[in-house]
Amino acid sequence: MKARILVLAAVAVVGLVAFLDPRQEKKKKMKCDDQLRQVVRGEDYAQEVLRQEVMNSEKLDDFFNGLMAEVSKEEMADYVISHSKVDTLVDELDLQHVRCCSECGKPMTEGFCIDNGAEYYCSEECLHKHISEDEYQLLYDDGNGDSYWTSWND
Ligand SMILES: [Zn+2]
Repeated sequence: MKARILVLAAVAVVGLVAFLDPRQEKKKKMKCDDQLRQVVRGEDYAQEVLRQEVMNSEKLDDFFNGLMAEVSKEEMADYVISHSKVDTLVDELDLQHVRCCSECGKPMTEGFCIDNGAEYYCSEECLHKHISEDEYQLLYDDGNGDSYWTSWND
């Protein structure tokens, strides 16, 4: 009788452990993740097929030009700014109030103009990576030289 109770208790414990086993839950979860991954892969594939078909369509040029005709000046500006360097924009679009820092490439509306515009620097930090204070003072020549600090934003 005692032995039977012990066996029953042991079975109950084993059953409880199996029931609470976190591995069971993990297996189920993995299965779910697998399904999700397959769905995502399917969408990626469809997206790629879409891209290929659009790219190969004979009507793509016309459709694209139609869309471009509706693009606003703002969208055009954002596009060229995100696809070009500042110095290219300054040159190609004859920009008047902006220059491009020769060191960091950022747009600047005031800063150092060196040798009549051969180089521009937005800050003393950028300037001194190329020209020391003494060298700059020589170029500046008390306002008589072709290198000076100025603003293009007037
Ligand atoms: Zn700079």
